[in-house]
Amino acid sequence: MKKYRLIIMIIIAMGIILIGTSDPLTSFYKTTGLISNGINEGRNIEDNNTKSEGSQKNKNDKQNTQGDKKEKNTTDENSKILICIDPGHQAKGDPNLEPVAPGSPYKKARVSSGTSGVATKKPEYVLNLEASIVLKHILEGKGYSVIMTRESHDVNISNSERATFANNKNANMVVRIHADSLDNSSKTGASILVPEEGGKYTASIYEESNKCAEFIKGKMNESGIQLNGIFQRGDLTGFNWSKVPVVLVEMGFMSNYSEDQMMSNPDYQRKLMQSIADGVEEYFKTK
Ligand SMILES: [Zn+2]
Repeated sequence: MKKYRLIIMIIIAMGIILIGTSDPLTSFYKTTGLISNGINEGRNIEDNNTKSEGSQKNKNDKQNTQGDKKEKNTTDENSKILICIDPGHQAKGDPNLEPVAPGSPYKKARVSSGTSGVATKKPEYVLNLEASIVLKHILEGKGYSVIMTRESHDVNISNSERATFANNKNANMVVRIHADSLDNSSKTGASILVPEEGGKYTASIYEESNKCAEFIKGKMNESGIQLNGIFQRGDLTGFNWSKVPVVLVEMGFMSNYSEDQMMSNPDYQRKLMQSIADGVEEYFKTK
C-alpha cells in the first residue's frame, strides 16, 4: 500500500512540475488571459456604452429637468398674474340705476339680463358663463391665477361692482365675455371692445387694454375666427369704473341663426376661448 502511495505522490509531483514548465499550458493561460481580457474589454466597451447611455440619459434628464424648470418657472411667473373673467349679465337684470363712471351724473341700469339666441333660445348670460368657464380652465392650464365675477346665474352684481371687484383684487387684466344682438339678423362675427383712448375715465387703461386686444385679434385671425375689429367704447360702465386694463369680447351675434348655434358648439367655444387665452398669454409675455 505504501508503495502505491509513493508512486501516486511521485506522479502528482511530476504533474505539478510539468504544469509549471510546459509552454502549451503557459500559452493556454495566456490565451485564457486574452480571452478574459477580451471579455473585459468587451465589458468595458459595454460599460462605456452603458456609461455614455447613462450620461446621455443624465443629460436628457438634465434637459428634462431644465425644461420642467423652465415650464415651472413660466407657470410660477404666470401664477403671479391675476386675470379676472367677467361673464356678462345675470339671470335677472337690475333696472335700478348706477353712475356710468365714478362721480358721473349720468346713470344707467345696474345690469341687464342680456340678449338670447334666435336658434338656441339660450339666454346670453348662460352662454357667457359657459364660455367663461372654458376660458378659465384654459387660462388656469397656462398657470394663470383666475377669478370670476360670478360662477352662477342667480346673482346681482352691477357693472360698476364687477369692475370694482377686479380693482380690489388687484387683477392684472379683466376679460369680459358677452354675445351681440342686432335687428339685422345677417350680421355675424366677433368684436373686441376696449376703453376709449383719451376717455375721461379710461385714458390710463386704454393703452394696455388695446395692446391685449391686438394680441387677441392676432390669435383670432390665426384661428380663422371672423372678427369685425377692435372698437373703443366710452359709454360702458364696466370700463369707466375699471382701474385695470380690460377687454370685452363679443363672441358673435345671437341674432344670427347659424352663429348662435355655432357659439353653443363646444368645439367652436373652445377654439374661440383658446384664441383669447393665447392672446392674453402673448400680451403678458411682453410684460
Ligand atoms: Zn352682453
